[in-house]
Amino acid sequence: MVVTGAIAWSACGPSPGDSGAPRLSFPFVNSYDGALLVPLNLITIVSQTQSGDAEFLFGFSSGIGASAWWKRLAGEYSLGPASATANLMGPPITGDMTDHDVYDYITSVVTANGGPARNGNSLYLLYLPAGITVIEKGVPNTDCEKFGAYHAEYGTRGDNLAVVQQCGGADPRDSMTAAASHEIIEATTDPDYQSYALPRIAPHAPWTESIWNAYDLTGQAELADLCEGTYYLEGSYYYQRIWSNVDVAKGGDPCAPELAEPYYDALLAQDWYPIEAGQTLSIPIFGWASSGMASSWPVDAHVASANTGFTATVGGDGTLRVDETSSVSVTAPGDAPSGTFAVVSVDGERPMTTTPLTDAAHINYVGVYVP
Ligand SMILES: [Zn+2]
Repeated sequence: MVVTGAIAWSACGPSPGDSGAPRLSFPFVNSYDGALLVPLNLITIVSQTQSGDAEFLFGFSSGIGASAWWKRLAGEYSLGPASATANLMGPPITGDMTDHDVYDYITSVVTANGGPARNGNSLYLLYLPAGITVIEKGVPNTDCEKFGAYHAEYGTRGDNLAVVQQCGGADPRDSMTAAASHEIIEATTDPDYQSYALPRIAPHAPWTESIWNAYDLTGQAELADLCEGTYYLEGSYYYQRIWSNVDVAKGGDPCAPELAEPYYDALLAQDWYPIEAGQTLSIPIFGWASSGMASSWPVDAHVASANTGFTATVGGDGTLRVDETSSVSVTAPGDAPSGTFAVVSVDGERPMTTTPLTDAAHINYVGVYVP
């Protein structure tokens, strides 16, 4: 196991030298060039097609700067104030949109309203109405299969745009504000893809680096990606919780703002394991929670790999509880050549379902590779 500079061991976890022992492997997310959108100017655009949601979505944007959610994260990442400089209504959106269409739509709405012009610290946030998808590389993102939202550079002064697609859920508006909060933080803390993000996956031998660098097989996970699935309710609005280096250093729940409930997760003993073609490997996982938790929770394992045929299943009854040891069985395809690898996400899932958007999933990763 090779530990790179991008990963650091939290203060209260066992040291990485304790082979076979569980340990916290949560990474610190660093900035490379320090670019931020500060102070954040947020311009929110809702189309006439979605006018029924406009008051709710504009209200969300207008309240962000004063929210405890923003203040907690702004304090840690030196973000300063956030202000909703404009809430704009655009013409109806009646068909799926490419990223180019999104760019043109935002630009035309801003032009029609006489601004606000790009100034180097603005985020233009567009909500898409129900049934409208973003077309990526010619393929519509139906049912948010690939993503729920994204942010991207907008112009050459450092500004960003973000698009939120409507993905369903019990109340689609809650999913929309949660997705918007995800993109607002990531646009603000990584507007040029050189700021707060984990490294790109190593092009060769990613198993020589932290497993977190292989997030989604591309690497470059941003601050909200690492807390996808855990939410914060404030007033009438749902926000996504966001990765906190401060909380990682404390060795507890790594997502902020903090919740009054434990963060539970499956811990691993190492980042990567060698596996032979055709072999099934049993990888130990260890139940852990940031504070007392009596109940067990479901654990889900799934595989991301550039090579087909890798599979992963959770052992036992598919659940974990604190201090319990279980396993994930990973099988490599019989014809897997040397150099192939798989990234297995081992997710702790929500044990209770009374408040649907409060705390749904906690991620961890382990990798296998064929030497
Ligand atoms: Zn993201």
